[in-house]
Amino acid sequence: MKKLKHVVKLLKAVFPKPWIKLLITLFFLVSVSLSSLAWGFWAHKKINYCAVFTLPAPLFYFYKRNITYIEDHAVDPDKRRYILKEEGARHYIDLDHYCTLPCDELPRYWFEAIDSFTEDTLMKYGIVPYHINFLSYQLENAFKEKDHNAILKISADLGHYIADAHVPLHTTKNYNGQLSGQRGIHGFWESRLPELFGEDYDYFTGRAVYIDKPIELIWKFVLDSHKAVDSVLSFEAQLNEHFPDDRKYTYQERGQTMMKAYSLEYSKAYNELLDNMVERRMRRSIIDVGSIWFTCWVNAGKPDLSGSDTIAIADSIIQMTDDIKGRDHAISGFE
Ligand SMILES: [Zn+2]
Repeated sequence: MKKLKHVVKLLKAVFPKPWIKLLITLFFLVSVSLSSLAWGFWAHKKINYCAVFTLPAPLFYFYKRNITYIEDHAVDPDKRRYILKEEGARHYIDLDHYCTLPCDELPRYWFEAIDSFTEDTLMKYGIVPYHINFLSYQLENAFKEKDHNAILKISADLGHYIADAHVPLHTTKNYNGQLSGQRGIHGFWESRLPELFGEDYDYFTGRAVYIDKPIELIWKFVLDSHKAVDSVLSFEAQLNEHFPDDRKYTYQERGQTMMKAYSLEYSKAYNELLDNMVERRMRRSIIDVGSIWFTCWVNAGKPDLSGSDTIAIADSIIQMTDDIKGRDHAISGFE
């Protein structure tokens, strides 16, 4: 709060009066909006950051020099959902709209999918595995061209989408428990639990490995996420049935407002029932992000990326509004 007052004072000193109101409004809007993003802001950054440490030399040195960019920009794709209509679909896929496990009949490649379904249908029910595959090719090309800026930008984005695809509720049409009377479970699983317990997780995952067929790995983690949907929903339903109503929620400070949140006691109980599933999916995200970055580099002929200092990429200015275009897959509300 002290920090906040200092910022307001600073703004007043630098900008003439009509600007102050606008800037302060934007500041609060951004801080409130950012607090409710997918996987949570915290987890996305952590996954991209840790993925760098899975890389072998010499690739490691390139990413390590630019680790601040990779970490800070782990949430760009979520910000983009505010300005780009087609962005939302890239973060999820409602597998249960198309198939039941093992979902063998679902086309693995975009060009096959587009033959079986209309583009409208694919965009409506989400395209995360197809988009990860598409970005992998882009990253390989960026490596071939030794385009350092593109490598970093695509790597940060790719890390985000791969992490999203490891979240069970990003693979179902019941993505916020809205079809089973469990509204709020999306943010509970992917934001509240890692924010509460993530500091104690073990993020040591070992080395990134070369993937012969990235398409198979991509579909493996998407389908593994989908296999866990039943546990994510049914464990919370069981817990809810036996847990005293008055101890289920608490209020926590978020930016300038008090927000309803699942209580620490309820969160602990859910985490135990899940047998640390959130930690396991975060660890899996880290090693899969590292392995896909590494595979793209190997497939590009292991280009030499030494000799450049930390790269300064102008941050794209993304205007935040409350108007998410398309489905908000990062809902943490209880409405
Ligand atoms: Zn996302």
